[in-house]
Amino acid sequence: MKRVGFIGWRGMVGSVLMDRMIQEDDFKFMESYFFTTSQLGSSAPNVKNGFPTLLGAMDIKELSKMDILVSCQGGDYTTEMFPALRNSGWKGVWIDAASTLRMKDDAIIVLDPVNRKFIQESIDKGVKNFVGGNCTVSLLLIALDGLFKENLVEWVSSMTYQAASGAGAKNMIELLDQMKTVGQSFAANPSGEALELEKQMTNLMNGENFPKAHFGHPLALNVLPWIDSELPSGQSKEEWKAQVEANKILQTKTPIPIDGTCVRVGALRCHSQGLTIKLKKSTSLSSLEEIISVANPWVRLIPNNKPATLKDLTPAAVSGKLHVPIGRLRPMTLGDTYLNAFTLGDQLLWGAAEPLRCVLRQILI
Ligand code: NAP
Repeated sequence: MKRVGFIGWRGMVGSVLMDRMIQEDDFKFMESYFFTTSQLGSSAPNVKNGFPTLLGAMDIKELSKMDILVSCQGGDYTTEMFPALRNSGWKGVWIDAASTLRMKDDAIIVLDPVNRKFIQESIDKGVKNFVGGNCTVSLLLIALDGLFKENLVEWVSSMTYQAASGAGAKNMIELLDQMKTVGQSFAANPSGEALELEKQMTNLMNGENFPKAHFGHPLALNVLPWIDSELPSGQSKEEWKAQVEANKILQTKTPIPIDGTCVRVGALRCHSQGLTIKLKKSTSLSSLEEIISVANPWVRLIPNNKPATLKDLTPAAVSGKLHVPIGRLRPMTLGDTYLNAFTLGDQLLWGAAEPLRCVLRQILI
């Protein structure tokens, strides 16, 4: 039985991965070891064939005993520990949620519903580094899988609405803290006029004491149109990832342009995207709906009407679910090759944990 080490298993992505692996009974295929940067020697999660005590995530000697390492710890950890491990001579398989290694030539971006066959070929060839894609990119590719397979897409503009939990556990808790602060202020003055309340809340969120250590800005009652670092192109790094990662996953010879503005919103979980899709040729709406809806087992077409949209095409409806709905499909007034769409998905499931779970299982079985 292979020895598999998990790092970052108690973070947002890691805990969703643990839940899914327990649900699918994956632990029976491996001996599991759990690593920590902060709780060395404490009890490990209780899973089948699991080692009971937490090991040190900075301990190269312990890490090197693993055949496979799965890291959901984040980019800083990968940047520090991955080269150190490889330089120490470790030849195991590295599976990662962080973006650090995604664009490296020796790393495969894994997205089971879209590139399972290529992943298998890579495993067979002895590739050792497998990385989950950016959450928004993975969800976009699952939703538009049919259009890409039919070579119908000339370009895509994607305007995102990304949930607080996409920035990690501490940030999601901070959003709730901000909301609590707002709620307490409202409770102290519930009978104010609407405009008076708006002023009170605007002052509150812009005030010194509003909790914003992690986001740096108010997210409750606000939107933040910048995610990740700044690039010389004027894009945010999150925006840059869309085109480069999507084309790497799709293995395109001529890159398909994908660009837009990435925005953090006060949703708790699930990333949403408003899409303008430029098609290579005019195609009837009914054909496009058919092509999109049968592409993979996870995409789900939502009819373009108000009740279905508001019931099934929201983070509230999709959080914790594996399907990836797409709706608001309609031709645009821009021209007959322009398609409007709105899609969303659980960024912790198919956006992060599930592709890692699938490749781990593919390697083990
Ligand atoms: P996270 O929630 O911040 O967890 C990372 C680590 O932080 C944990 O493993 C834990 O390490 C430590 N930690 C400190 N305080 C914690 C707390 N209150 N609760 C839980 N853990 C806490 O990070 P993440 O969002 O899972 O992201 C991990 C990686 O996946 C990142 O590279 C991220 O970019 C990528 N990713 C994230 C998402 C997403 O939606 N969040 C989606 C796709 C990819 P110790 O146990 O060692 O202390």
